[in-house]
Amino acid sequence: MNHQHPSRRDEIAAGLAAVERRVAAACAAAGRARQEVTLVAVTKTYPASDVRILADLGVAHVGENRDQEAAPKAAECAGLGLTWHFVGQMQTNKARSVVSYADVIHSVDRSRLVEALSREAVRAGRRVTCLVQVALDDDPGRGGVAPADLAGVADTVATAEGLVLGGVMAVAPLGGDPARAFARLAELAARLRADHPAATVISAGMSGDLDHAIAHGSTLVRVGTALLGRRKPFVR
Ligand SMILES: *Cc1c(COP(=O)(O)O)cnc(C)c1O
Repeated sequence: MNHQHPSRRDEIAAGLAAVERRVAAACAAAGRARQEVTLVAVTKTYPASDVRILADLGVAHVGENRDQEAAPKAAECAGLGLTWHFVGQMQTNKARSVVSYADVIHSVDRSRLVEALSREAVRAGRRVTCLVQVALDDDPGRGGVAPADLAGVADTVATAEGLVLGGVMAVAPLGGDPARAFARLAELAARLRADHPAATVISAGMSGDLDHAIAHGSTLVRVGTALLGRRKPFVR
């Protein structure tokens, strides 16, 4: 229980209940079991106290997108038994820090990054699950490998010491049709599973499009706004 912020707890509990209803409805509509979809609460820009509330409400997975913010928050929340997901674009020089707290890295999109993550995972004695981020549009600014390069980067992860190939991740293109994008991702994921049967994770779906993502086979949704409220504009 968090006695200092009871109203914030109520707010988050209401957000969580609404998201749970959406996830359950999307699973039911797709003929899928609710347990097929993992909810990751994306807590970027929100304080560690919100992470504690989420944990208290039963959320087991949290996601962050900037190492500068994530590292201290993860340290502050150590001991809550949470699984930490790193979902943001990642510079190679952050590999050591991110590997120290992240259990799953969603944004692996180049071999140089795989090498750095592998080196740091071995050094730290950790096994880190990596998802290969796929670019579903032609905007290289948002990260991700071109679909044609997915197999190559996935093979690099699969053979790297200290890393486990978990599957794929994508963000629906801005202004595009999310259903089409997620259908494409499902095809790419199926092709990847033919070579790597254990790479079953499809990380797709955010506050605005999680229903479409679940309809197209997402096994993990990354939800921020719908749980915690609208983020303040990001200021560097
Ligand atoms: C911020 C973020 C999310 C959550 O987005 P919402 O629209 O707030 O649910 C999901 N995935 C990634 C990669 C993000 O950066």
